[in-house]
Order: sequence, then C-alpha cells, then structure tokens
Amino acid sequence: MGSGQVTDWQGKNVTVAGLGVSGIPAAKVLHGLGAKVTVVNDGDDERARTQAAELEALGVTVRLGDGDSLPEGTELIVTTPGWKPDKPLFLAAGRAGVPVWGDVELAWRLRGPDAAPWLAVTGTNGKTTTVQMLASILRAAGLRTAAVGNIGVSLLDVVLGEERYDVLAVELSSYQLHWAPSLRAHSATVLNLAPDHLDWHGSMEAYAADKGRIYHGNRVACVYNVADKLTEDLVREADVEEGCRAVGFTLGTPAPSQLGVVEGILVDRAFVADRHRNAQELAEVSDVNPPAPHNVANALAAAGLARAFGVPATAVRDGLRAFRPDAHRIAHVADIDGVAYVDDSKATNTHAAEASLAAYEPIVWIAGGLAKGATFDELVARSAKRLRGAVLIGADRALIREALARHAPEVPVVDLDRTDTGAMLQAVTEAKRLARPGDTVLLAPACASMDMFTNYNQRGDAFAAAVRELGA
Ligand code: ADP
Repeated sequence: MGSGQVTDWQGKNVTVAGLGVSGIPAAKVLHGLGAKVTVVNDGDDERARTQAAELEALGVTVRLGDGDSLPEGTELIVTTPGWKPDKPLFLAAGRAGVPVWGDVELAWRLRGPDAAPWLAVTGTNGKTTTVQMLASILRAAGLRTAAVGNIGVSLLDVVLGEERYDVLAVELSSYQLHWAPSLRAHSATVLNLAPDHLDWHGSMEAYAADKGRIYHGNRVACVYNVADKLTEDLVREADVEEGCRAVGFTLGTPAPSQLGVVEGILVDRAFVADRHRNAQELAEVSDVNPPAPHNVANALAAAGLARAFGVPATAVRDGLRAFRPDAHRIAHVADIDGVAYVDDSKATNTHAAEASLAAYEPIVWIAGGLAKGATFDELVARSAKRLRGAVLIGADRALIREALARHAPEVPVVDLDRTDTGAMLQAVTEAKRLARPGDTVLLAPACASMDMFTNYNQRGDAFAAAVRELGA
C-alpha cells in the first residue's frame, strides 16, 4: 500500500478490526470507496448484532465473536486504535505481510490533495487542553481551524467533510500514533512523558517510541519540553524534513530557540529575527486560564506550534484569553469560608495529580479510586509539604494511605470506607473540616473513577454537587 495517499480502493480486500466508534465509520467509508470490506469483532452481544445488521444491509461482511483470525485474502487491516499490538490478528498480519492502519492513518491516507496541514499534539497529560488552546490561538489569527482527533472529533469525518480548513489542531493518543506509520505533521509536540498504558505498549521504551512518531517527517518545528528530557531525546531521534527545527518550551527563562517565561510574561525566542539577541513578548501568565504552572507549559507548547505556523504574537495572547478549559480540569467550583474548592477529576493518573498539587498550597487533597497498577510514593513525597490533610476514597485508597504514612506521617488522613453515592458528600465534608481559610480543597484523585463512578465527569459532578450542598 506504499506510504502515499491511496486513491484506488476498487475491489481491495480490507479487514476492519473492531466495531465501534472508529470501526463502523471506517467500514462505511471504505465500502463507499469500492473496497471489499470485512469487519471482525471479538464481541457477539446484542449491540454488536444490531450494528452488524446495519453494515450487512450495505453489503459489508461482518464476523462477530472472532476478532482474531485473519480473513482470507486480506490486503489491509484498518484497526480500532485501542486493540493491542500483540493480538493474534496482528501477529497473523505480520506473518502475512499485511499492513495495519489505525483510524488516524486511514484519515491521513484519505485526505485530499490540498488538505489542511496538521499541527499535532501528544503527551501523557495536557493533550486536550493544549489542542484547544492551539485552536483558540489559530482562530484568533483568523484561520479556519478545528480541534480534532482523540478529543472526540473524528479525523475521518474532518478530512472527508465539506468544510474547508487552513490548518488542524490534532490531538493524538499513543495508540493512534502506534498505528499511524506514514503520518507527517507540519509541526508537533510531545508535552511530557510519564509511564502510562504500559500494559498496552509492552514497555516504557515502546510507549515513548510510539509517542515519538509524532515528530517523524515534521516540516517546520518539533516542539519539546525542556523540563522533560525524554521529549527532547525523541526529537533528536526523529527523522524530520530538512530545515525542521527543535524548539523547546520552559517555565524558566528561554534560551535561543525556546519559548519560556520572563517576569510573568510568556516570551518567544524561537520564531523571531535574530533569536540570539531578541525575544518577542506573547502574553502574560495571567492570560492563561487557569495560570497553574503545568497549564502555562501547555500554553507555551500551543504557542510554539502556532508560531511555527506563522501566527502573530497578538493572536497568541487573544487566543489564550479566549480559551475556556473543559469541565473537571482544575475547575474552580466555589469559595466557602475562605476555602477554595477545585475539581480536577480529570487527574486520573499520578503525573496529572502531581501537576495540580503543584499549583496550590496548602491543600486538603481528595484522592483515590482505581490505581491501575500505579504507585504513589513519588507523588506523595514530592507533594507532602503542601498538604494540610488528605481524604481518601475508592478501591485502592490503601495504597495512597501507605504512601502518606511513609512520606508524610504528620499529615492527617481520613480514610473513607464507603463507595455508595453519599461517599463524595462525606469526603467533601471531611475535607471542609480539615481546611483553614486560605486553603484549597482539591479533588485530584490520581486514580481512575470506575470503582465508584461511571467516569471522571460523574466523579467531578458529584464533587461539585457536594461543595454546593455544603455552601448552601
Ligand atoms: P489529556 O487530554 O492528555 O488527558 P487534559 O488536557 O485533558 O489532558 O488534562 C488532563 C489532566 O492532566 C488535567 O486535569 C491536569 O490534572 C493534568 N495536566 C494537564 N496538563 C498537564 C501537564 N502539562 N503536565 C501534567 N499534568 C497535566
């Protein structure tokens, strides 16, 4: 299948791996282009049968209950990005020399000849926030753009849709990057790298290598995090276009070819004439919403990509000012009796929680849930001095309690042994009791939510409802 745009699909035998949010549209599109499409799916439940019936009515073949055997004659597999690379289907494809594409690769190959360039963002944390900031900046520059990809807007829809764009702000997950071998972004960033999804990728090295693919073939700038050496290593290893630059972002004073912060001002020493002597003022730290350190880093990364695309400094400022974060990402819920209540339910891993704990002091920390194999010693040791107290909830709270006992034995801990719907109200009540005026009660669980809630949204909503109830 080469590595270019594919135009002739007539009669091609394509296997789509997995029904679902990316599989069904992929099957429909490929069928519409004239390919002979077979969908294979592990599950065979009622929902799968309904979806299968709809596809079969169009003329697509569907095999339910067998996502592992490679259909005879398959020339290409288009997979749901979440399917693990060591699945027997992919091992069989490898043996047979059949290429495997994810949803992003498919969109990349199907984009039109004059398609908008991609400014791409990945990282363990901060992706969604950064692409949204980036889109806001691009919009402020008068460009036709959208925040797309892993953020919930299908790239396939965007590249095949009617709407014309000048440039796209694309969020990519490590899974999507794994299955996107020929993607070539205009410019890209890896915001940070901490162990995550290692069971899927097999090792930290494999995870980093998949993230690093985002830099391959960049034309203008590879934007890395000066504070996270791994991201810079990935730039060094990347095979980029002639003339593409490595551009760092830092919360400190920027060196030439970096964006950074000087006395409360975001400055650019990369995309300016004579960068050894000059710096361009972009915005104030207070223009970043919220101005927590990790979020300023996100803003600098977004600014780096926008500047790589030629956006003027004023648009960076206007775009950052216009940006509103999504719910449950360091959302200020209320002030009650001089105590701020902040919902960062989206901090579902220790790396994210550490970033939000670094943004406040003193903190009454509400944490716990499903640890997903994480350990909490580093997080607790680094954050201990900021803690007024901790309230622990959820299935794996003992792991956090033990880490607190080891690294912060003086911090009072309330351990809540209940998982019913009233648990969050009690957690917030306990937190309120521990807090003093000037403190922040911070929900930054460092864990997934599914032991007690449907998802992090529901967990954050429960927190906000409890805060309102106490404040009423
Ligand atoms: P993602 O899309 O990568 O999951 P989000 O922008 O949705 O990232 O932010 C998820 C959580 O990660 C936030 O609630 C915050 O706690 C944390 N976070 C955001 N940006 C960063 C960053 N640059 N470094 C560390 N943690 C971050």
